[in-house]
Amino acid sequence: MTSSDDLKRRREEEAKRIRSSLNRQRGVQHSSLKGGETAVAFVQESLCIGCDQCTIVCDDDAIEMYKMAMRSPLLNVESNQKAKIIRDACTGCRLCVLACPTDAITMIDR
Ligand code: SF4
Ligand code: SF4
Repeated sequence: MTSSDDLKRRREEEAKRIRSSLNRQRGVQHSSLKGGETAVAFVQESLCIGCDQCTIVCDDDAIEMYKMAMRSPLLNVESNQKAKIIRDACTGCRLCVLACPTDAITMIDR
């Protein structure tokens, strides 16, 4: 029978394997994205779920959140937010694209 120590060790090994696989994929994705001075991030509003992940990774304060009303009055929540790129502050580093869980951010020509 598998002991709990054994199970813990296997879980840690699996977590390590998944983490390194994700990092590898991100490396490939990062190098294939348009970036740098000639590019700027763009948020597709309909895909943004307001999770704030992009603002956490942006070191240049180039993303701000704004409030907007929910589309459906049936969803009774107090606030609904979306991300917006401040174009002049964006350095084209692409970190927000990798952080966004819904693929709402793309890099476009400046
Ligand atoms: S590309 Fe970089 S600088 Fe521009 S908004 Fe995204 S994280 Fe910020
Ligand atoms: S990470 Fe993506 S979904 Fe989350 S707030 Fe930023 S743009 Fe919106």
